[in-house]
Amino acid sequence: MNTRYLSILTALFFLAGQVTAQPFTMPKLDYEYNALEPYIDAQTMEIHYSKHHQAYLNNLNKAVAGTKAADLKIAELLINAERRGAAIRNNGGGHYNHSLFWKIMSPSADKTPGGKLSEEINTTFTSLDSLKRLMNKEAIGRFGSGWVWLYVTPEKKLAVCSSPNQDNPLMDASGKNRGIPVLGIDVWEHAYYLKYQNKRGDYLSAIWNVIDWDTVESLYHAALTDPLLKAIEKDAWQELKDYHMVMAQTFHPMEEGNLGPIRSRSGELVAKATVLAASKVPASFQSPQITKAIKELVEGSAAVDKLVRKKSKDEKIVKSLTKLHDTFHVIQGLCSDEH
Ligand code: MN
Repeated sequence: MNTRYLSILTALFFLAGQVTAQPFTMPKLDYEYNALEPYIDAQTMEIHYSKHHQAYLNNLNKAVAGTKAADLKIAELLINAERRGAAIRNNGGGHYNHSLFWKIMSPSADKTPGGKLSEEINTTFTSLDSLKRLMNKEAIGRFGSGWVWLYVTPEKKLAVCSSPNQDNPLMDASGKNRGIPVLGIDVWEHAYYLKYQNKRGDYLSAIWNVIDWDTVESLYHAALTDPLLKAIEKDAWQELKDYHMVMAQTFHPMEEGNLGPIRSRSGELVAKATVLAASKVPASFQSPQITKAIKELVEGSAAVDKLVRKKSKDEKIVKSLTKLHDTFHVIQGLCSDEH
């Protein structure tokens, strides 16, 4: 075969690879299925990794196929998991959570944290033992299936929470418990049932023998400087999100010539702006500029509402709402990572 045919063949194989490439892939296990014995048995590991995790991954790839979500990193995707729907929330969560779980376990686990992580654990929870007790208590208290987490908050503090199903603290669905996970323990029955049956507490006591604090410490340091922390902090500012919703649902129809929504909801804009102005600006975004912009937002919302109440002409309302939309984007810009 001459080189020309060879290069055509190579190109074809390359293209085939591009078409079938899956956006998300299984992480490699750094140890054998039996490596965590006697704490976690080989059969549980094999089924858990090759069947359960694989299924989450396959379903995630199906859910994002052909969408913009396929271009995002898994953690970025999960920040808006609730909005993206059940398939991404459950399977994306399943893929992220298990990938973390395999990584933080090791047959040669470093049994105690060191450095800054150790100091933070002592400051926040008084000791490593009390942190373990707290996590075990949360894990036992989790009704049904879920996870227990140690995570870094947007304020760069450590915190513990549990979550149902495959949720985790990255997600909007996690309410007040938002941040980047650095240690997660799977408390689904599939993680322990073959060896421990209904004794979740025994599994929880055993698993600390294979939690590798060296890896947790690396994840902790990475989380402290991860831009995702700011994205989560902004996403967790509920009052800003609430204002955004009404703005989007009134401004975009207006752009298309439909002033119905703003004429019926201008009062709501004023109410949301007032609540936003009274809310606490998240620590990372506090600045004189944002205080000024929020003040302008309250005044601008009132101005639009006043025009609506006076039954003003469309063009006046369009001009006023467009200006208000610009002000809103100043706030959005001040809360994004470029600043
Ligand atoms: Mn699992």
